[in-house]
Amino acid sequence: MKKTIIQRIKAAAVLATAVFVGAGCSAGSPAQTSEPPVTAAISADTADSGTITETAPEEPVTEETERKPNTVRTAEELAGKKVIAFTFDDGPNTGVTNEILDVAEQYGIKFSFFVIGQNINDETASAMQRAHSLGCEINSHSFTHSDMTKLSADEIKDEMDRTAELIYSYVGEYPKFFRPPYISVSPELYAAIDLPFISGIGCNDWEDKVSVEKRVRFLTEKCPDGVIVLLHDQATNEKTAEAVRQAVPMLLEQGFEFVTCSELFAAKGITPSPDSEIIYSYATESGWK
Ligand SMILES: [Zn+2]
Repeated sequence: MKKTIIQRIKAAAVLATAVFVGAGCSAGSPAQTSEPPVTAAISADTADSGTITETAPEEPVTEETERKPNTVRTAEELAGKKVIAFTFDDGPNTGVTNEILDVAEQYGIKFSFFVIGQNINDETASAMQRAHSLGCEINSHSFTHSDMTKLSADEIKDEMDRTAELIYSYVGEYPKFFRPPYISVSPELYAAIDLPFISGIGCNDWEDKVSVEKRVRFLTEKCPDGVIVLLHDQATNEKTAEAVRQAVPMLLEQGFEFVTCSELFAAKGITPSPDSEIIYSYATESGWK
C-alpha cells in the first residue's frame, strides 16, 4: 500500500476542493471525521520569557486528513471529463467487497454499492463503512432480493425501510438510489418507491462461465462516457474482483474519472427523477443512450 500514498495524496488534493453533502450527512455519523483541533502551544522557553505564541499543530498526512468522506465532486469539477460509475450489487461481504475496495483505495477512486439489507450485519457492515469512508455511495438493492413486482405495497415499503434504516445505522447516510432485484419493475413498483431506479450495462458477471478476460474486455471496450456499469460483489465473485483490478488502470489510462452515481448525474447536468417510470443505465434525460 505504501507505494500508493502519492496517488492517494493526489486524490486528496482533488477532494480538498469538493463540497460536503449537507442533508444526508448526520451529525455523529460513524464515518465522519472532525478537523484536528487548533490548540495553543506554549513551550517551556516561551513560557519562561513570558511570551506566549499560539501555533496550530502541523496537520499530519493521515488517512483522516487525506480523504474526506461524504464529499461529492461538483458538475463544474467534472465538466468535460469522461465519467463512469462502477456499481456493485448483492453485498456487502468481508471478502470480495473488500478486494474491490482495495482497488478503490489504491487509485483513490469511488464506486457505488447496492447492498441487500439481509446481508448487512456487524461483520459485513465493516466493508460498507470502509466503502463509505472512501467516498463510495451505499445504495439499496432491497432487503430480501425478491422480485419486488410480486410484493404488496406494504411488503415493498418494508423492504425499502428496513434496508434504508440499516444502511443509515452503519454509515449515517440514507441510500440515494434503488436497483430493483433482477431489474424487475412495474408501474406499481415505480409508484411505491421514492428513489430513482438504476439499471446499468453489464456482462453477466454473476455467471462463473464468463471469464476474467471477457469481463476485462467488456469493461475496457464497451463502456462509454456517462455509463453506469452493473457488476456484482457477491462473496464468490473473485473473477469480478480480478477484472476490476485489471480494468481500472486501463480505464484511467483512457482518461475516465470513476464517480459515484450521484456524481455521474451531476457531471452530465441530469437530475434523476424518483417520480417518473425511468430506470437509468446512462446519465441522460431518458436513462438510455
Ligand atoms: Zn442482485
